[in-house]
Amino acid sequence: MRTFFFAASALLLSAPSVSAQPKQDFSKVQIKATKVGEGVFMLEGAGGNLALSVGKDGGVLIDDQFAPLAPKIVAAARKAGAAKVKFVVNTHWHGDHTGGNENLGKTGAVVVAHENVRKRMSSEQFIQMMNTTVPAAPAGALPVVTFTSDVTFHLNGDTIHVLHVEPAHTDGDSIVHFTKANVLHMGDTMMTVSYPFVDIGSGGRYSGFIAAADRALALANDATVIIPGHGPVTNRAGLQAWRDMLVTIRAAVAKLVAQGKTLEQIQAAKPTAAWDAEWGQKFIKPDVLISAVYADVRSK
Ligand SMILES: [Zn+2]
Repeated sequence: MRTFFFAASALLLSAPSVSAQPKQDFSKVQIKATKVGEGVFMLEGAGGNLALSVGKDGGVLIDDQFAPLAPKIVAAARKAGAAKVKFVVNTHWHGDHTGGNENLGKTGAVVVAHENVRKRMSSEQFIQMMNTTVPAAPAGALPVVTFTSDVTFHLNGDTIHVLHVEPAHTDGDSIVHFTKANVLHMGDTMMTVSYPFVDIGSGGRYSGFIAAADRALALANDATVIIPGHGPVTNRAGLQAWRDMLVTIRAAVAKLVAQGKTLEQIQAAKPTAAWDAEWGQKFIKPDVLISAVYADVRSK
């Protein structure tokens, strides 16, 4: 059932139940491009946020949303200054970040990702939280260049560093640092509209979100523009607040676990209450987050 990602992306914006969502109509979706740094744009349509490096060497696109949007993304990239998209980088395997791979590949773009992205896209996956099976992607959608630790693009006068971080949202997560433009794309290791989604079936771990935030904080300064996987852009202070929220919630849950409390008792104690208004209203509800933190604490 491929409709999951359509529903999930809609959920990030609104709220209701996943199964009740009709298949999303992409005909009305517009791709909005916003300049976020020298030669770097953020593109928004439906699905995860995109980043795009433009210049004489051709476009480097970070993530590509859904298949039907590829022509609109290519058009938006051209308008922003990339005559052709030369490379696509996938921050992880989920369909709202990789759906355009096949169509962009047909235009000549080379798709690059961590090896676990290709591995997961190559076979059927099950997303436990959504109770959803995602079929293997067609061969033409798979990344053709894979890496294990990191890869660097020297294009458009920038140095674009793609770093695999330890498993957080999935086991194939990368963050992308446009070092000259001073822009960071976090993939789904950060969202500005929701608590983290720990896709445990895809090898994700709650602690990994803290590690990814620490990695990004070490690269950022006060002028860095930070693009989350979903939601509006933020800055280093926003990332720090996110990281502090993750750490404080983990400590609160760990304390309750140490007291011998069950998951249900911990959920009832509402250790996330101080943050629920800001992060717990949309995609990931407090109880879902707490069960992910609980699993993480128990696994240590
Ligand atoms: Zn995702």
